[in-house]
Amino acid sequence: MTTLPSTVLAALPPDAWLLDDASRHVYGFDNSKRHGPVLGVALPSDEAQVQALVRACAAERTPVVIRGRGTATTGAAVPVAPSVVLSCERMQRIERIEIANRLAVVEPGVINGDLQKRLKAHGAFWPPDPTSAPYSTIGGNLACNAGGPRAVKYGACRDNVLGLRVVTGTGEITVTGSFTTKGAVGLDLTRLVVGAEGTLGVITAATLRLSPLPAATRALRALYASVEAAADAVGRLLGGPDTPCAIEFMDTKALDLVRSRVPGIAAEARALLMIEVDGSIDSIDATALAVRELALGDGCIGADAATNASDGELLWAARKALSPVLRSLAPRKINEDVVVPVMRLPALVSGVERLAQRHDLLIVCFGHAGNGNLHVNLLFDPANGDSRERANAALDELFDLVLALGGTLSGEHGIGLDKRPFVARAIDATSLHLMRQIKAAFDPFGIMNPGKGVS
Ligand SMILES: Cc1cc2nc3c(=O)[nH]c(=O)nc-3n(C[C@H](O)[C@H](O)[C@H](O)COP(=O)(O)OP(=O)(O)OC[C@H]3O[C@@H](n4cnc5c(N)ncnc54)[C@H](O)[C@@H]3O)c2cc1C
Repeated sequence: MTTLPSTVLAALPPDAWLLDDASRHVYGFDNSKRHGPVLGVALPSDEAQVQALVRACAAERTPVVIRGRGTATTGAAVPVAPSVVLSCERMQRIERIEIANRLAVVEPGVINGDLQKRLKAHGAFWPPDPTSAPYSTIGGNLACNAGGPRAVKYGACRDNVLGLRVVTGTGEITVTGSFTTKGAVGLDLTRLVVGAEGTLGVITAATLRLSPLPAATRALRALYASVEAAADAVGRLLGGPDTPCAIEFMDTKALDLVRSRVPGIAAEARALLMIEVDGSIDSIDATALAVRELALGDGCIGADAATNASDGELLWAARKALSPVLRSLAPRKINEDVVVPVMRLPALVSGVERLAQRHDLLIVCFGHAGNGNLHVNLLFDPANGDSRERANAALDELFDLVLALGGTLSGEHGIGLDKRPFVARAIDATSLHLMRQIKAAFDPFGIMNPGKGVS
């Protein structure tokens, strides 16, 4: 393998490098289980060190792969060529929290869950809520435009960031956006960098837009006789005056998997919606009641409402039981996070059922129905004949189906390495050309996370 250039090594103090074989091996993975070659692991402590490192890498044309905590599911944090892995783990300062301005300025290595704990004491929160929040970073969240159940009401990362400091691929610093919740000057570079998967530069600080922490939440679990009935209910909920802060969905296969573990899932239920509303203590009961009325309707076979937080936890049990069950079913799982317009969910789920039959696979769908964003889990055992080939063929057809329904390849996980072969199906040639020109403007030497995203 190529060695680390001495000028790159000299850009940081010796204690900011991990160069032993074990560290270089470990930092070559992410949660995709892919692995790539690492020249050295850099642990900068501040923006000045990031800048010095990137300048040296640019001069040597050495690839740089930025890393939060490696929880990406797509290979986004895995090098494809011998690279410096720039880990943000020493950049964990929460620089300031300004409640009156509804903003927080943080370094990229801050763990999402740690930030939420700090904000809670101020009666605020940062809306992006990936399930990985206890161990993923703000930098990684922003770079993937991560989201979670709350996105239906509060949006994903792009909707909750005011500005960034970014070290570009030439080692220059660009300050994007503003410290204000309105701004109408110039192009929106912030939204370009968010979701760019580390291909445009290193986020060294982020000004996050905060929301006031709701005083109360109420959960509601509704069961439906068909996916169509559940989708109709989602349409009614989104058309109503009170947007829920979660509208989560489970398909028939998912319900079959948890039915024996969780009480109250009727045998005839073919789909489930887990709905949550938030608001003030005075208004929450009325809001929950109004939302329940909307959830009821043709095909609804029951709607249980929680009256307090611990009842709410019980109702969420079905949704939370699913991931561990899925892990126990097959040695391999392809977890896609496709997204379609909400009212196309029934067509997506029935199309997936046809794919499962045609390719003789177990495929389980659940996810964020309020955004039309479903996790489609294709389960297989690589030791079992041609099951891997069948899963890959089903995946290929799944993407065609999603695009035909007016959706796109990913709602929150991003492209990484996994979805690169499919990008040209989802993005037209003119847009791809523009995106590559933007990439070249930020990173003319092509050193920032090469081979990822659309680059
Ligand atoms: C159990 C589990 C549950 C998950 N649930 C969700 C979910 O609900 N919703 C969701 O959206 N995702 C989810 N994910 C995916 C993943 O956690 C998110 O994409 C997360 O945002 C990645 O954060 P990270 O710190 O681990 O980043 P990494 O995986 O280390 O990196 C991800 C990408 O960000 C880039 N990057 C990291 N830091 C910076 C920076 N400072 N500047 C520029 N680029 C940077 C990397 O180069 C890479 O391209 C889940 C993953 C797991 C394992």
